[in-house]
Amino acid sequence: MKAKINLINDFLGLIYPKICISCNVALFKHEEYLCNRCKYTLPRAYFHRDTEASLIRKILYGRIPVFGSAAYYLFAKKTGVQNLLHYIKYKQGQAMARKIGKWMGEELRMADWIGDLDGLVPIPLHPKKQKERGYNQSEEYGRGIERAINTPVLNILHKDIYTSTQTQKKRYERWENVKNNFLIEQNISHLRHIALVDDVMTTGATFEAAYTALINAGYKGRVSIIVIAMTTHLL
Ligand SMILES: [Zn+2]
Repeated sequence: MKAKINLINDFLGLIYPKICISCNVALFKHEEYLCNRCKYTLPRAYFHRDTEASLIRKILYGRIPVFGSAAYYLFAKKTGVQNLLHYIKYKQGQAMARKIGKWMGEELRMADWIGDLDGLVPIPLHPKKQKERGYNQSEEYGRGIERAINTPVLNILHKDIYTSTQTQKKRYERWENVKNNFLIEQNISHLRHIALVDDVMTTGATFEAAYTALINAGYKGRVSIIVIAMTTHLL
């Protein structure tokens, strides 16, 4: 039976050759999503090994008291990392997102602050966008990390789509306002240490907005930051 399935898989492979989502070369049978070359050569960040000097901590300095921070890849436009993140966002890439989350989580087990976490909190999408896409990529990365570090994903953060006092504002301001507002509607007083999880970090404005929502909900615990990719133009 197994031989038969392999035969079918090989046959399908001939019709639809599986290709590396980063560099487009045909994959060998043992390779999944990424060819081995991309898997081991895409630019990595390793920030979790360097908590004190972390770039994430520097960017968020004075805005969020970051406890632990981690980024898996370094992000730059027109690179394999961009192809990868794009695939995950727009091509039903949930399984791939979970796979990368798991790879990242396996390395994160080495960071001393990871064992202390109560939960992984994904940055939410607008509900309309999530309905269109069918999933929130940040949650999918979180699911992969969850499996590797045995810490649950907590969907406590929601987009505040009914932000009031908007009617008098100009359209651009209104859009900014809606874009950067999050809400927490449940009791989070039992949480002591959470990690906000997002796919890409650039200026940190999204994390700042999420942190504001945590503070507004009375959160007094530690906040760590986990991103899959970190923009490099700030380096
Ligand atoms: Zn490749």
